[in-house]
Amino acid sequence: MTTFAELGLAPDILRALDEMGYATPTPIQEQVIPLALQGGDILGAAQTGTGKTAAFALPLLQRLLPFANTGTSPAKHPIRALILTPTRELAIQVEESVKAYCKHIPLRSLVVYGGVSINTQIPILKTGVEILVATPGRLLDHVQNKTLMLNQVNTLVLDEADRMLDMGFMPDLKRIVALLPAQRVNMMFSATFPEEIRKLADTILNQPTFIEVARNATAVTVTQVVHPVHHERKRQLLTHLIKTRDLKQVLVFTGTKLGCNRLANELNKLGLHADAIHGDKTQQERIKALDAFKAGTLRVLVATDVAARGIDIEALPFVVNYDLPHNAEDYVHRIGRTGRAGIKGEAISLVSESETRYLKDIEKLIGTALEPTIVPGFEPGVADVPAYESRPPRTERPAERSAERPVERVVTPAIERSAPRGQRPASRDALFDSPYVPSAAPAAAPAASRQPSRKPVAALFRSPVKPESTEQ
Ligand code: AMP
Repeated sequence: MTTFAELGLAPDILRALDEMGYATPTPIQEQVIPLALQGGDILGAAQTGTGKTAAFALPLLQRLLPFANTGTSPAKHPIRALILTPTRELAIQVEESVKAYCKHIPLRSLVVYGGVSINTQIPILKTGVEILVATPGRLLDHVQNKTLMLNQVNTLVLDEADRMLDMGFMPDLKRIVALLPAQRVNMMFSATFPEEIRKLADTILNQPTFIEVARNATAVTVTQVVHPVHHERKRQLLTHLIKTRDLKQVLVFTGTKLGCNRLANELNKLGLHADAIHGDKTQQERIKALDAFKAGTLRVLVATDVAARGIDIEALPFVVNYDLPHNAEDYVHRIGRTGRAGIKGEAISLVSESETRYLKDIEKLIGTALEPTIVPGFEPGVADVPAYESRPPRTERPAERSAERPVERVVTPAIERSAPRGQRPASRDALFDSPYVPSAAPAAAPAASRQPSRKPVAALFRSPVKPESTEQ
C-alpha cells in the first residue's frame, strides 16, 4: 500500500497528515498528488467523500513551500492559489482542511463567501494570504472593490464544478479566469461531466490528465435502502423509521423549498427536532441550522440539493431521500454525504409509485439494482393509516374533508374498503395533528412484506394511485 511519504510530500505536510489521522492516501489522492506535484493540469472525476480536497490541496501547498515565510509585510503574502467552490459551506470546509494541512508551514489561508459582511474579510485580505478559498460572487465583489489582487495566482482549483454551473456561476467563472495570469496550474473537480462541464474544462485546463475515481459510483461504505411507500405516507414512514430505529443526525432531502419547510414543520409537530435549509433561507439561518445539526442538538436537517451541497460532517450516519431526485446524478451527490472516509453510512430512499422511473435511472447510473424493502404497515399501495396504528376514530364531516384535500383521489385497497366503517383507519390529518405514538407490531403483516422483496419496485404498488403533485 502506498504511503503519503512515497507520494513525495514534504515532512511538514506529512506531520500534519499524521496528526489528522490520515494513515494512507485514498485512491484519488494516490493518483492526483504525484501528477499535481509535477505541475500538470488535472481534470478529476470525484465526488465529495473521496478525499479530493487533500488530493488538490496537498500538492498545491507543497508547490507553495518555497514562498512560505513569516514576514509581516502584506507584499510577502500575495494570493498564489485560488480555490473556487459553489457554496459557502464547502468553501469553509475546504479552507478548514487547508489550514490543518499547513499547520506546520507559514502559509496563510482565508475563506471569503457572500451573505455576510464584506467588511470583516477586507482587513484580513489586507494583511496578505497565500491561499484564498472563495465562492465566485464574493470573489468578484472583492475584485470590484479592489480589495484583492489575482495577478500572482499560480494555481487555480475549481471544486464541484458541475454544481457551480448548476448554480449559474458560469459567467462569474469566466470573468475570474480572465483576471488570472495565463501561466498557472489548473485543477478542476466534478462529480458529473455534462457537456457544459467538458466545454468549461476545454477553456480552462491545459492538456489535463483525466483522473477518474469511482465516478457515479456510490461509496462502498454506504448501505443503500429503498422503502417503497405510498406518497401520502412518507411523513409517517420517515417518523416511524427515525423513532423506532432511534436515528440521530438524519439529513433528509426534499425536492422543493416548500416541501422542505413543510416537512421540517411537520416533523417538529410530531416531536422530532427538525430544521430546514434551502435557497430562500438567509446565510444566518443556514449557519444556525447547520451548526446545530453538526453539534448534534438538531436531530433532523431537511435540505434541498443546492443547500446541502458541501455539508461535510464526520461520520454523518443517515441520509434520507424523502423525494427521489429527478436527476440521477443528484442521488450520487446526496448519498455522498454519508459513508465518508471509511465510516459506515446508510442512505434510505422513500420511493412512491410515481418515482419508480427515477429509481430506474439511478440504478442505471450506479450500475446496481437496489432491492426494495417494504416496512410492515407501510405497504406501498396503502394510502391510509392502517388500523393497527389505531387512533381514536375521528368523525369526519364530508365538507371538512373536501375542503382540506380537494383534489385527492386515493384508491383504498380492497382489504381496507371492506372493513366496517368504525374500524377504518383514522384520517391522515388526525395522525398529523396528534403526537406520534409508536405503533405496535403489525398484527397480520403479510410474510412477504417482512422480507426484502425481489420484485421490481413498480410492481409493489398494488393499487393505481394518482402521482403526487410536484410542490414548487
Ligand atoms: P473530501 O472528499 O475531501 O471532502 O474528504 C472527505 C473526508 O475524508 C474528510 O473528512 C477528510 O478529512 C477525510 N479524509 C480525506 N483523506 C483522507 C485520508 N487519506 N485518510 C483519512 N481520512 C481522509
